[in-house]
Amino acid sequence: TSPYTPYPILSTSIFTRLFASGASGDSHIGSFPGSLKAFVDADSGASITRAQLAHLALSLAYGLKHNPHTSRFASRGSTVLIYSPNSLAWPVVLFGSVAAGLRCTLANSAYTSHELAFQYTDSGAKLVFTAEDGLSVVRAMLHESGIAKEEAEKRIIVLGSDLRWAGGPSAPRSPASEYLLKMEDLLDKGKLAEEEKFEGSNAHETVYICYSSGTTGKPKGVETSHQNITTLLDIVSSAFPPLTGGSIMLGILPFYHIYGIAKLVHYPFTQGCPVVIQTKFEPVKFCSVIQRFRVTHSLVVPPVLVILARHEGPSTNTIYRVSESLFSGAAPLGQTLVKQVKDRLLAKRGGRGNLGITQGYGLTETSPTTHLLTVEEADRKMGSIGVLLPNLEARLVEDDEGKIDAAEGQPGELWIRGKTVMKGYLNNPTATKNSITPDGWFKTGDVAIRDNEGYYYIVDRRKELIKYKGFQVPPAELEYVLLSHPDIADAAVIGLQSEKEATELPRAYVVHAHPDKVKTAQAKAEFARSVVKWMESKVARHKFLRGGVAVIGIIPKSAAGKILRRDLRELAKQEAARG
Ligand code: AMP
Repeated sequence: TSPYTPYPILSTSIFTRLFASGASGDSHIGSFPGSLKAFVDADSGASITRAQLAHLALSLAYGLKHNPHTSRFASRGSTVLIYSPNSLAWPVVLFGSVAAGLRCTLANSAYTSHELAFQYTDSGAKLVFTAEDGLSVVRAMLHESGIAKEEAEKRIIVLGSDLRWAGGPSAPRSPASEYLLKMEDLLDKGKLAEEEKFEGSNAHETVYICYSSGTTGKPKGVETSHQNITTLLDIVSSAFPPLTGGSIMLGILPFYHIYGIAKLVHYPFTQGCPVVIQTKFEPVKFCSVIQRFRVTHSLVVPPVLVILARHEGPSTNTIYRVSESLFSGAAPLGQTLVKQVKDRLLAKRGGRGNLGITQGYGLTETSPTTHLLTVEEADRKMGSIGVLLPNLEARLVEDDEGKIDAAEGQPGELWIRGKTVMKGYLNNPTATKNSITPDGWFKTGDVAIRDNEGYYYIVDRRKELIKYKGFQVPPAELEYVLLSHPDIADAAVIGLQSEKEATELPRAYVVHAHPDKVKTAQAKAEFARSVVKWMESKVARHKFLRGGVAVIGIIPKSAAGKILRRDLRELAKQEAARG
């Protein structure tokens, strides 16, 4: 169990939790004045206050329910897909959809039409919110999903670059098709919807569907409920520094990942802390945004810290003056890296002050955070993911069935139980049964140890998942794509750890369908290069085979036909040793 005091569990919708005015009065949204900024666009400086966000969300909910194109697909429980990089419109779209009682499936904004088509169909989504830049991919995706052109146009809602609705600059209206809707078209009706309520047992209804491969196989829809998120918002506040009194957060991590949606779109709002939205990580800009907006807390992934440890540039000096803490998550964070960044940042500050670099741990399936290392303990427990958050239980188990608990201080697979564990995988009872035991334990697939003070350390990963810079790269998905290559007879993908980039790199082993054609080392190398290039036309950037491709005679498999990834990892080690 957790050392923290448990919170009472709420049974209410996310919208009510975030926007209902507290005891303090009508001018409040949540517990904070409506006039307080909620989100700020780093590029244009345009912003929306808490009251504006509430108003815009309810206007959008009204528009969705009454527009003749969208109302067909906007009844309570229907699913919408959001395909956009971070933007000021993103929280409006999300909370507007939630207020309308819809489920939102959040897609990686770098997805190809093929990847997006899988998520669209699998999640049962009908309407699609897309950034202007994603429009051609969405059109291709709807075409691939077998939807006729005219109907497809009626399902798309474009988030334009025009920010007049947020007091920002107006953009020239791009030529719209006859049917294509813009978000503004749904906002300008001047009427507000009544938010859909999810009280009592309805708080268990699904609200978000992010995709995760879990311990094995291809991506699956993770059903996250209202109560999963409202519980998370309380329990993380136990270990997160208070975000009041001038705190500002930087919203650089993608909102569509559970880490971004929970910790950037929801959590700071509950604390009255504005979030500065930046679309893409770029070192100089990252630093200048921190300086310009006096950002105090940033959520990052380990590769961002690598850049901060090495990048030279005038603006890098400034972040060290204003930043109070950097929170890493979504992937393992090495102690050496933390030390390098800290030493460098503090040296730049002339050794004055303090800067907490700490980390959290969690999964899409646990909404996400289960462990968080406090800033106060960040130095003493460097490398740890912290203690278990309240309202959760954890086990470290030795065997697959969970009959044997690991001995004190010994590694075991981390199992989690509590109100933030997902409902299950969408339309996939088998995968759900394989990952959640009948008595509610969720199997993370990560191996951890717990020290005698209750601090956990992730020491290994038992599942096949690869993480590139915090993004999931499910090997089974890449293997499936590789097998569609006309010259590939068999394939397996593993992750190689790159210390330099603080991430794993996906590497493929392939068997040529005509071994005669790749007899020489040169022919093998040429074929391998061509496969790397070919994959770049098939998948989103984070899934590129940056760890390379090797041509081998046979993929090692167990008697049951399971790929022996451990053998391939061993092979990769030998290859690296040979140079
Ligand atoms: P996702 O569902 O994309 O958030 O991925 C969850 C997985 O990311 C976990 O099962 C871990 O393997 C990995 N992960 C997340 N946070 C950490 C961390 N702080 N340290 C080590 N691995 C992590």
